[in-house]
Amino acid sequence: MKFFDEIDKRDHEQVVLCSDKLVGLRAIIAVHNTTLGPALGGTRLWSYATEEEAMRDVLRLSRGMTYKAAVAGLNLGGGKAVIIGDAAALKNEALFRTYGRFVDTLGGRYITAEDVNTSVQDMEWVRMETKHVTGISRALGGSGDPSPVTGLGVYVGMKAAVRKVFGSDSLKGKRIAIQGAGKVATYLAEHLAKEGAKIVVTDIAEERARSLAKRLKGTFVKPDKIYDQPMDVFAPCALGGILNDDTISRLKCAVVAGGANNQLLDERKHMQMLIDRKIAYAPDYAINAGGLINVANELEGYSEKRALRQAEGIYEIIQKIFEIAEREKISTSAAANKIAEERIASMGRINQIYSASRGMRAR
Ligand code: NAD
Repeated sequence: MKFFDEIDKRDHEQVVLCSDKLVGLRAIIAVHNTTLGPALGGTRLWSYATEEEAMRDVLRLSRGMTYKAAVAGLNLGGGKAVIIGDAAALKNEALFRTYGRFVDTLGGRYITAEDVNTSVQDMEWVRMETKHVTGISRALGGSGDPSPVTGLGVYVGMKAAVRKVFGSDSLKGKRIAIQGAGKVATYLAEHLAKEGAKIVVTDIAEERARSLAKRLKGTFVKPDKIYDQPMDVFAPCALGGILNDDTISRLKCAVVAGGANNQLLDERKHMQMLIDRKIAYAPDYAINAGGLINVANELEGYSEKRALRQAEGIYEIIQKIFEIAEREKISTSAAANKIAEERIASMGRINQIYSASRGMRAR
C-alpha cells in the first residue's frame, strides 16, 4: 500500500502510528478533517488480517465521521482510531493508558470515544492520561450510553421520511419491521409503540426479539424472514451491509429508515437499486447521528435534556435531505453528502477571516 497516496485520496489531514512493544499497542489514529472543529471518533479494537486492512478501515471510518458531524450541524471534525489485535488478549489498563498518552500528544486535534470492542471502562483508563476522550460513564460526569438519544433521532428521522412518502408523519397504524432488538432498536420500538405503530421485530438472539415483541404487542419473525414482511418501513438496527443484491429485491416497504451504520453494501449501486424500487432511503449516518450528538454534548458539560432536544433536530435534517434530493434529482445519499460538503466549505471560509481571539489557522 502506498500510504501517502491512500491518505491523499480521501484528503486526510494527518495519520499517526502509535506503537509500544511492551504493552502490545499498535494503533493508527486518522484525523480526516478539522475544518469544523476537533476530529471526534471512536477507537476500534480489531484483529485485522493485515496492516493495510487496518489502515484502509481507519481512513474510511474517519472520513465517515467528518460527514456525520457536518450533516448533524456539529462543530466537530472527523477522526477515528484503530488498535490492531485480539481484544481478549490485549485489553488491559496499561494498553489503554499508553494509548491515552498518544491521544494526548495530539493536543485535542483528535478526541476519542468507545467503538467496536472498546467500552466505557476502557475510555475511563484513557481518561487517566488525557482529557480528550468522551463516552465516559454518567457517574464520572460523562454522557453514558448513547442509545436513548440515537433511538429518538431514528424515530423522528423516520417520521420525516414517512411524511415525504405518505404526506403525513403519523406512524399510527404503520407497519414497521425492525431488524435487531438491541439497544437502539428497543428505544426506537418504544417510541413507535407509543405512537400506535404495528411492530414486527427480529434478532438472531431470538428470545430478545420475542420479549420485545411481547412487551410492545408486536410480532416476532425469524431473522431471515424480516426482508419479506409486508411493511411500510424497514428499520435496520443491527448490522451493516444489509441493503444488498440479495435483500433489496425482497423488500416490500416504502421507506428504509434505521439506526445501523453502513446499511448500503455498495453505496452507489444499492442506493440506485432502492431508487429503482421506489423505496425512500433515510441516509444512515444522518438518521443515526444521535449517538454522536450525545458524546458531542459531553464536551460542553453533559445534559441529557439538551442532547435529546438536539437529536429531535434530525427530523429537519432528514426533511432537508429529501427536499434537496427531489429538487436536484439526486439520491438522498448524495444529498446528505452534499449538505455535509457545503457546510464544511462555507464554514471553512469563515476561518479565512482573521480573528484575534480565535487565532489564525494554517490554511
Ligand atoms: P446492540 O449490540 O445493542 O444491538 C444489535 C442487535 O442486533 C443485537 O441484539 C444482535 O443480536 C442483533 N443482530 C446481530 N446480527 C443480526 C442479524 N443478522 N439479524 C438480526 N439481528 C441481528 O447494538 P446497538 O447499540 O443497538 O447498535 C445497533 C446498530 O446501530 C449498529 O449498527 C450500530 O453501529 C448502530 N449505531 C448505534 C448507536 C448507538 O447509540 N448505540 C449509534 C449510531 C449507530
